[in-house]
Amino acid sequence: MSIPMLFGPYGSSALSFIDRFARYGANTLWFHGFDPVAFAACARHQIVPCVEFKTFRADFDAHPELIPIGVDGKPIRYGKLVQGVCLSQADFLAETEANLLAGLRDFAPTGIWLDYLTYAGWFEEPMPDLQESCFCHACITEFCNATGLDAVTPTEILATYRDRWTRHKCERIAHYAAHYAQLIRTQRPGCIVGAYMCPWTPDEFDGALTRIFAQDYTLLTPAIDVFTPLIYGTKSGRTPEWGRNWLAASASFVPATAKVQLILDVLDFPASLAALGEADSPGWGVQVFGGAEIFANPAWAELFRKVVAQMAARQSD
Ligand SMILES: [Zn+2]
Repeated sequence: MSIPMLFGPYGSSALSFIDRFARYGANTLWFHGFDPVAFAACARHQIVPCVEFKTFRADFDAHPELIPIGVDGKPIRYGKLVQGVCLSQADFLAETEANLLAGLRDFAPTGIWLDYLTYAGWFEEPMPDLQESCFCHACITEFCNATGLDAVTPTEILATYRDRWTRHKCERIAHYAAHYAQLIRTQRPGCIVGAYMCPWTPDEFDGALTRIFAQDYTLLTPAIDVFTPLIYGTKSGRTPEWGRNWLAASASFVPATAKVQLILDVLDFPASLAALGEADSPGWGVQVFGGAEIFANPAWAELFRKVVAQMAARQSD
């Protein structure tokens, strides 16, 4: 990849400060969807445009058919924030793919980060409500066809075939990752394919990274160039060192050929960014959710510049 390490804010609200990015070492803006205003501003200011592309997230109130089915045979519980859909919903998947293809036709992003590329749940909280899914008839049939097993009920699947079920879910997510990556690389050769990730290590919450969210780094690595765990410390009840610690641990579960790049939350500033600056292996650049606030605050902007310089220096060590 001949692209420099990428540093910058996530969110179109940072467009107001785009003329200050270069001064503080930010070379990239990540923004939601194929936003023409953001692309135009990036072109004017020579800032790298990167798209966050929504995969498996929907308004369940408007589309209840997309709600995954839980162990009890009923739609899963969900609150204000939830990601993941029943992956047997062909119309939804076709619409997602059409949105991606339309964006690839009309715009030339430097990178596309696939978001919500998971089974159902929400992980940006200290005490997450974790539920196994999707046990709709079509998803159980898909499991049986893919594995050659003959299981009918959620109870039977979890009691007898738990590991195969988890593996199957991870393979299903990895299949879509590979499919979207192939579309991106065919339409826009050289475009970076990133993925936003559940920020838990494989052991936390009883293996929920794979068991619930179905994100397996090894299976995803052929599709994904850059893995970006969502290090939202305050929301998740973690310390400012969480990101630095995740990076130190990641070598044991992220294949060495893949790049890692944290997304920090401005709610955790400035301590989380300062901690990242001290990391031995700080990753391939950094994103900051709500990062517009960095550039409105000279002290934070200066810290950002300093950490970018530290990270660039480590890479050339
Ligand atoms: Zn389903």
